[in-house]
Amino acid sequence: MKYCNVIILDIVSDELDRKFTYRVPEKYLDKIIEGVLVKVPFGKRRLLALVVEEVIKIDFPKEKLKDIVGVVFDTPVLTNDLLKLANWMSQYYLCSLSKVVNTMLPKGVKLGINPAYEKYVELTDKEMADSISKKASKQKNVCEILQEENVLKWNELLQKANCTEAPVKSLQEKGVITVNKKRVYREPISYDKVAHYAYKEPTHAQKTVLKLIKDQLHSRDKIPTLLFGVTGSGKTEVYLQVIEEVLKNNKDTIVLIPEISLTPQTIARFVGRFGDKVAVIHSRLSTGERFDQWEKVLRGKAKIVVGPRSAIFAPCKNLGLVIIDEEHENSYKQGEIPRYHVRSVAEKRCEMTDSSLILGSATPSMESIYKVKENKYQLAELSKRATDATLPDITLIDMKSEFQRGNKSIFSKTLLDEIKRNTDLDKQVILFLNRRGYASFLLCRECGYTITCPRCEVTLTYHKFSDRLLCHYCDYTEPVTSHCPSCKSNKIKEFGTGTQKIELELKKYFPYLSTIRMDVDTTSKKNSHKELLDDFKNQKAQVLIGTQMITKGLDIPNVSLVGVITADTALNLPDFRAGEKTFQLLTQVSGRAGRGEGKGHVVIQSYNPSHYSIQAVRGENVRKFAKEELAMRKKLNYPPYSQLIRIVLRSSEENALENYADHLADKLEDQEYEVLGPNPCPILKIKDEYRWHLMVKVKKDKFINDKKLQDFLLEEKHNITEQGIIRISIDVDPI
Ligand code: ADP
Ligand code: ZN
Ligand code: ZN
Repeated sequence: MKYCNVIILDIVSDELDRKFTYRVPEKYLDKIIEGVLVKVPFGKRRLLALVVEEVIKIDFPKEKLKDIVGVVFDTPVLTNDLLKLANWMSQYYLCSLSKVVNTMLPKGVKLGINPAYEKYVELTDKEMADSISKKASKQKNVCEILQEENVLKWNELLQKANCTEAPVKSLQEKGVITVNKKRVYREPISYDKVAHYAYKEPTHAQKTVLKLIKDQLHSRDKIPTLLFGVTGSGKTEVYLQVIEEVLKNNKDTIVLIPEISLTPQTIARFVGRFGDKVAVIHSRLSTGERFDQWEKVLRGKAKIVVGPRSAIFAPCKNLGLVIIDEEHENSYKQGEIPRYHVRSVAEKRCEMTDSSLILGSATPSMESIYKVKENKYQLAELSKRATDATLPDITLIDMKSEFQRGNKSIFSKTLLDEIKRNTDLDKQVILFLNRRGYASFLLCRECGYTITCPRCEVTLTYHKFSDRLLCHYCDYTEPVTSHCPSCKSNKIKEFGTGTQKIELELKKYFPYLSTIRMDVDTTSKKNSHKELLDDFKNQKAQVLIGTQMITKGLDIPNVSLVGVITADTALNLPDFRAGEKTFQLLTQVSGRAGRGEGKGHVVIQSYNPSHYSIQAVRGENVRKFAKEELAMRKKLNYPPYSQLIRIVLRSSEENALENYADHLADKLEDQEYEVLGPNPCPILKIKDEYRWHLMVKVKKDKFINDKKLQDFLLEEKHNITEQGIIRISIDVDPI
């Protein structure tokens, strides 16, 4: 008798969130192995489950065990390495295996979606066809069509013959024709319509980089490569040529791209080079299309997968390479359970499968730069644009002096002049407004001062609720001041501006300019994002006003000016990564200018232009920035010098919540962990629920081995959840 442990996928309730043992009936003995999807009886229901292991020793009465009652898919849906990876993720991110596996599998697989087939009609008995009497005119007609075409799709045949199914069916019964079903894959792209994307002879710099990476492909002790290349330096061509090499060795590649950059333009490069060997995954696919892309990979029909974060779980059987483009992107971290970061997961999967890993970026994360310093990653660099295009000129504008000179507008004089000059030349302009996050803070318009925590150096957040300023890392708080602590002016006020306001202001100065606004409001409809961008690309408007969604993948040669309305919103996030985010964002936005002929120009407005995060944007000076940023991280022991675990607590009962938060922090501190907080979350109350959070700081890379801390957190979670008043969520490596 064979027994298996399964995890339930259908219902993710805490009660079902563990392994269950079932018996394998005789008829499934060969079929049921690790990674197979099955149906199991549970109470009165039949639930979808995944076989995770065979059980050899059972220490309870076997008679109680029930039979597995069905197999859902004819082959394992998770490869061996994915199953191992799932186990690792479940341990590292402190969440159940079932939640991880649910994330790994596309919806269509879990729904048991049927593969799509198409019926083909083929003429098999010519003699008989000839002998069909003219009287049966419809049948005769069908035969004549097939004599010309030989094979036709069922529907096409009906259309051509302009008849019902009846005559075709009678021909089938007579044996004149045969009808075959062929598996068809629902494709999101028509491969034959994508233009070939020709091989480009690599530049000298690309050659050097290619050698470094290819050496890794064949090395026994592989280390990941950080491909650090300025915007437009030809990283994509490098990826394509490495993939070519991987294909030669008959291995598979996963290419991860931030969802927002998964534009038809990007996809066309991969498909244009490798044709239908490429499977593409993005959020606009139907469930059926996504299922088919997944199955193409599983069956080895696609050797290259291009997709967002979740594509790291593509069921490649013979993985050789993973590429993470724009590796610094925030979207590589999943916001819901399992709260994984794809960089860590990819690293693990590559390690398990002896695959190579390439992380590409013009503005690498501090995590990756630090790994280069530690010799855990190798550095490959492209320091010039691949074409003749040069990096844009950057002008930093000090908004304090504008204010002092009496300019109360959100536009500096320089920016206004530049908008006029560039649009007069029929060039296009992008105005960028950073509105990520929620936090509001106080800013002195007179001197640019913002109030920061004396202990943590992060900007204090203004809480309307209590009318106080608060540090989100420690419990520091102070009352709101009406006068700037630095220059004593009374121009210190809450800061924030919207895209709409910019549009209105712009119309005041340039009523004749046409604009397109791109923000969460205007892009919430399906495809509207693409339509707006296409409109802009087709020069239906001269100015594009947008939030971070415009920063990536936008390659419009006619854009010669980029204006950053205020660099300060990102800089003052209550986050130790504020400087890093600012630098990355500004560099990416600047990269949108001057992609075509002629030099681009970027105007950055800030109340704090001497900050190193803004200064370093000039010339994309990543090294200079990283040096200062890493020094700060080291001094305050923030990641990558330490590791953070964020714990968020939610409850409708404010007192109970606050008490528990204190209690939890005390318990952790008793075990000599460093704890930041507890604190109210930036948005204290959502839907009648109060939210507090705290952070545990642990030694770098130690969490995965700290069984004591893991167990403690899991037990706390279990106990407090059982009481039913407070809900707790844990985020390992929050961003
Ligand atoms: P990145 O991915 O680093 O932003 P891209 O791969 O988009 O850069 O390259 C920028 C531009 O340079 C593209 O138009 C690309 O076609 C071109 N390019 C890249 N490599 C070469 C090469 N070896 N020879 C000629 N043009 C190239
Ligand atoms: Zn603080
Ligand atoms: Zn001031």
